Amino acid sequence: MTVQDASALPLQAFLFADPAAHSLSPLMHTAAFRHAGLSGQYAAIRVSSTELAAAVHGLRRPGVLGANISLPHKQAVLPLLDDLTPAARAIGAVNTIIHREGQLTGENTDAPGLLADLRDLGVNPHGLGGVIVVLGAGGAARAAVYTGLNLLEQDVYVVNRTPQRAQDLVASWPDRNPAPQLRASAVAEVPWPDVTLVINASSAGLDAPDQTPLDPAFIAQLPRQALVYDMVYSPAQTRLMADARVAGLAAANGLGMLAQQARLAFTAWTQCDVPVEVFRGALEEGRTGIPR
Ligand code: NAP
Repeated sequence: MTVQDASALPLQAFLFADPAAHSLSPLMHTAAFRHAGLSGQYAAIRVSSTELAAAVHGLRRPGVLGANISLPHKQAVLPLLDDLTPAARAIGAVNTIIHREGQLTGENTDAPGLLADLRDLGVNPHGLGGVIVVLGAGGAARAAVYTGLNLLEQDVYVVNRTPQRAQDLVASWPDRNPAPQLRASAVAEVPWPDVTLVINASSAGLDAPDQTPLDPAFIAQLPRQALVYDMVYSPAQTRLMADARVAGLAAANGLGMLAQQARLAFTAWTQCDVPVEVFRGALEEGRTGIPR
C-alpha cells in the first residue's frame, strides 16, 4: 500500500516504516479494535524517508487516531511533531504518534512497555536493587536506559560492541540530576555480582541462534536472583537466554515487551484498556507460537 492509497481510505491508525510488510502490528491492533468493540482499522504502510513528512501531515485528518513509527523513521519524525512526551524527548525516538484535534504528540511506548513486561515477569520496580546492564547502544538501548534510570531508578552500565557508541549514548543523555548513575563500561569492568538485571538491547542473536552479546564467563558471575531479559524474540530462546538458564538464572525474550508497547499505544489512541493477552494472542497466531 502507498501513502496515496492510505489517504483515500477511512483508516484510523497506521504503521509508517520501511519495510512495513513484515510487521505484526496490524494483527495486534486489529485484535484490539475487535476486543474493544470499536470499528477501527490499522494499516502498515511502507513510507520512504522522502514520503515521511507528507505521511505524518496526513495524520492530522479527523478520525485518525495516530500512528506507530518504526525503522528507519523513529528519530527523523521528531521535528515533524508538535510536542513530545518526556520519555520520547529523553530517548530521542518516537514509536507512537497520538493525534488530537490536529495536534500530533510523539510518544515512546518501548520504555514503559519494557517496564510493564518486567512487572509481568515478577520484577518489583521498587525492590530491584543492585545495578542494571544494558547491552547495545542503538535506539532500543536508549529505551532500556530510560527504563533503568527513570522508571526503575537504578544505576545503569551501558556495554556495546563498539565502545565509542556507548560513550556517545551516555554523553548525549539529557540532564538527570538527582537520578541514578549512567556509565559506559567495558564488559570486564562491570561489577557483575551486583547486577540484578541484564537487558540485551543489541541485535546480537536476532535470527542467529549461535550469536550472543555476552560471554558465559560473565553470566556465571551474576547473582542467583538476576534476570536476563533479551529484547530479541526470534528465535524464542536466544543463545543468551539459554546460557542464562544453564547458569540457573531466569531469562525472558522480548515478545512481552512487543505486546506491551502495542497495548500502551492502543490505550493512548483510544483510552481503552485492552488486556495484554489480546496482543500476545495475536502475536502468537502470527508467529506460530513463541513461548517465553
Ligand atoms: P540498532 O539501532 O541498529 O542497534 C543495534 C545494536 O546492536 C548496536 O549497539 C550494535 O552494536 C549492536 N550489535 C549488532 N550486532 C551485534 C553483535 N553481533 N554483537 C554485539 N552487538 C551487536 O537497533 P535497535 O533498533 O536498537 O534494536 C536492537 C534490537 O532490539 C533488535 O534486535 C530489535 O529487534 C530489538 N527490539 C525489540 C523490541 C521489542 O519490543 N521486543 C523493541 C525494540 C527493539 P554496534 O554499535 O557495535 O554496531
